[in-house]
Amino acid sequence: MVETFKDFGFAVKTAIKGMGITLKTFFEKPVTLQYPEERPEVDSRYRGIHFLEQEKCISCKVCALACPVDCIHIESELPEKGLYDWDRFDIDYGLCMFCELCCFPCPTNCIHMGKEFDFSRFSRMDLVRNMLTWEGVSPAQKKEVDGIAAEKAAKKAAAAEAKKKAAQDEPKDTQDEKKDGE
Ligand code: SF4
Ligand code: SF4
Repeated sequence: MVETFKDFGFAVKTAIKGMGITLKTFFEKPVTLQYPEERPEVDSRYRGIHFLEQEKCISCKVCALACPVDCIHIESELPEKGLYDWDRFDIDYGLCMFCELCCFPCPTNCIHMGKEFDFSRFSRMDLVRNMLTWEGVSPAQKKEVDGIAAEKAAKKAAAAEAKKKAAQDEPKDTQDEKKDGE
């Protein structure tokens, strides 16, 4: 009998305690987020999908060399000093383990771990992310590159014209020399 009363008392006590917690949280601000419409704030040191400051990147490929799983692929040309012609800067997130080892050795501090976290796809092929903001030369440098190309084309055209003129003048000189000889 005593045991029964003890059990009953314990049941009442735990029920009151549980209801107390329910009552307390009932008036608190809800913590549930309606994802994906509402997105959680991640920690400042969170290591998510990278972001690249392409305008600062010098295509040195140090990040790709530092990556332990070889998931960074960079292809670019350097047509003129300081001007990069970009073809490719991909990261394969099917391989990436978000270790951040690619970011530390970057000499211009232009590749960073971002805060984007939901990058799921149905195919592994779709996990390769193009990090480039633009392909080819940068929009800011395009004018400069076009100017250099135009200058080169003009020089080439002038050289071709001079060569053509020299070829036209040559028989005349030869004729003059022949006349002088007579
Ligand atoms: S290490 Fe930095 S500068 Fe070099 S290619 Fe990678 S992101 Fe660009
Ligand atoms: S975070 Fe690590 S695995 Fe991912 S690209 Fe950078 S070095 Fe490679």
